[in-house]
Amino acid sequence: MSYGYDPENNILYIGADQVPAYDIESNEMGACSACGASLLSISYHSFGDKLIIVDKCPGCNSIYADIYNNDWTWLDGIAISHFFSEKDQAGNDSSGTMEEGSDVSKSLKLLNSIPMNQLQTIFSPAEINAMFARAKGDECVRQYLYNARKKYGSFDDVFGITIDV
Ligand SMILES: [Zn+2]
Repeated sequence: MSYGYDPENNILYIGADQVPAYDIESNEMGACSACGASLLSISYHSFGDKLIIVDKCPGCNSIYADIYNNDWTWLDGIAISHFFSEKDQAGNDSSGTMEEGSDVSKSLKLLNSIPMNQLQTIFSPAEINAMFARAKGDECVRQYLYNARKKYGSFDDVFGITIDV
């Protein structure tokens, strides 16, 4: 499942679904694990039986989707690696198919299949952002990607999953 966010219209993109905000509120959401600044919520979304808060770090501009079930038990936190842009959408539409079998979609599928808390055990949010960006074929911060690559062996040792991004 790929996540994107359109900050101008406060629309959360989950795979092919567009999920508009049902509420816009700026609340403190705990510390950013990348830089320690206090995260601020941007918008609240309801998707199926899940509630999702999008929050942003004012320190390093990381964006996260925090996923809760409908009685506000926290389920998962997803680092949203890039803002949604018209260009991405146009690219996806024109390609028609989802490029099954390409290296890009394989890497992305693998990353998306790994629970975020496992990734966060080994990698920093900045490294996770870089890995997802790389898997999507987007620009990424090379230094973070290199740092992440040095840890692929450790990740394999701990979780038995070989990441190759
Ligand atoms: Zn931060």
